[in-house]
Amino acid sequence: MSPTVERIPSDERLPAAADVVIVGGGIVGSAAAYYLAKRGHSVALLEKGHVGCEQSSRNWGWCRQQNRDAREMPLSVLSMRLWDQLAGEIGKDLGFRRCGLVYATDDEKMLAGWESWAPVAKEFGVATRMLTAAEAAGRMPQTRRAWVGGLHAAEDGKAEPALAAPVLAEGARALGATVHQDCAARALEIANRQVVGVHTERGYIRANAVLCAAGAWASRFLRPHGVRFPQASVRQTALRTQPTANVGEVLYSPDFAMTRRLDGSYTLAISGRATLELTPQGIRYAREFMPQFIQRLKAVQMGVGKSFFSGPESLSALLTNDDRVFERHRVLDPEPMGRLVRQIMANVRGTFPELAKIEIAGAWGAFVDCTPDAVPVISPVEQAGGLFLAAGCSGHGFGVGPGIGYLAAQLIVNDAPGIDPAPFRLSRLIDGSKVEVGAL
Ligand SMILES: Cc1cc2nc3c(=O)[nH]c(=O)nc-3n(C[C@H](O)[C@H](O)[C@H](O)COP(=O)(O)OP(=O)(O)OC[C@H]3O[C@@H](n4cnc5c(N)ncnc54)[C@H](O)[C@@H]3O)c2cc1C
Repeated sequence: MSPTVERIPSDERLPAAADVVIVGGGIVGSAAAYYLAKRGHSVALLEKGHVGCEQSSRNWGWCRQQNRDAREMPLSVLSMRLWDQLAGEIGKDLGFRRCGLVYATDDEKMLAGWESWAPVAKEFGVATRMLTAAEAAGRMPQTRRAWVGGLHAAEDGKAEPALAAPVLAEGARALGATVHQDCAARALEIANRQVVGVHTERGYIRANAVLCAAGAWASRFLRPHGVRFPQASVRQTALRTQPTANVGEVLYSPDFAMTRRLDGSYTLAISGRATLELTPQGIRYAREFMPQFIQRLKAVQMGVGKSFFSGPESLSALLTNDDRVFERHRVLDPEPMGRLVRQIMANVRGTFPELAKIEIAGAWGAFVDCTPDAVPVISPVEQAGGLFLAAGCSGHGFGVGPGIGYLAAQLIVNDAPGIDPAPFRLSRLIDGSKVEVGAL
């Protein structure tokens, strides 16, 4: 099943022209649309399904600076500031709360790993504190599990995946952007190495600039235009409970992660149990992903699934330039892994006596789009002037989604970016630079 996501209206008429056309209405594309519209640019936001239908509604909702790769820290600090402002600016709740994140573990090695992040916290002024065993227990009084310790990230928090992208897109619309759902971008029009428009399933839009924010589809969308974007998707599973007793806002443990949602239900998942499905695109970029694969060998399972034959990385997607592939997959909606769902429920029920009878409201699968170094790409694309890419969030793009959209907007309008875009340039992944795999 798909997780619930707020539905917003579409603009029926496609504009003949826009300053910027954005391909993909996830949190990244919606945030970019909002910040561009706020600066007075005309924007058309294209979404093949409905806004937020893929990764941006399927995630845990964590907005964190904690445990991030140092390259992402300026983006993360910026994003937290933007989250603080968005509800007030747009006049709608995105569910953002700086409720703090609690991590607890019974694994000494994991604890040491969290502790090793302290220099990054210090460098960027992030409030984070290691917890003793007693303090960790005190933060989760409803369980008698013997933690060896934990961590409290007091300034981090959560937002509502069902709301964030739709509210941003609505915010953009209120500022004059147009939003087109069930409207796949099929291909770019490029003349004299300059992007001049986008062909969609509903017609053509002239454009001065195009931002590809197509999530797991970005590499496939750009490939027919000669752009090499090494990207691989990892399959994950999450579920939502019925509204239930409050045992904490955002909790992480070695065998479950939980986020309380606005309606009192929990999003539940388990970290480090992703499946890397073998796909033709994956084989194409195997060399680029090898360092990450070796580093994460224990955290991912290998498998062959439907994605070999269907979807953005499939054989037909790789071998043909069929530009209808996007509208044939309105929503990428892989099956959840039943075994994982049962395991997550057993772990949570076993840890919290109060949740012994919780019921599942629904479970879903998702494909997380990753780059070889697990750092997003936010970058001009050299094959065509006016073409930009913002994708490859590698499983942690929801919390930094506003910052990615903001930075992409700055690059597009050629503003001096508030943060250094160099770590996010596309060229690092294709020019032979050494791959430094970041934190997930
Ligand atoms: C289970 C899970 C848990 C996660 N937990 C967290 C978390 O707690 N915190 C965090 O920060 N991140 C988390 N993430 C990662 C986060 O969800 C993603 O990094 C983020 O949502 C990516 O946003 P996006 O806009 O780049 O992509 P998406 O949300 O996937 O949006 C891309 C959109 O582009 C559309 N599209 C594609 N091709 C076309 C086309 N040709 N024409 C028109 N539209 C097109 C798609 O339909 C899609 O809606 C998690 C992810 C998963 C799956």
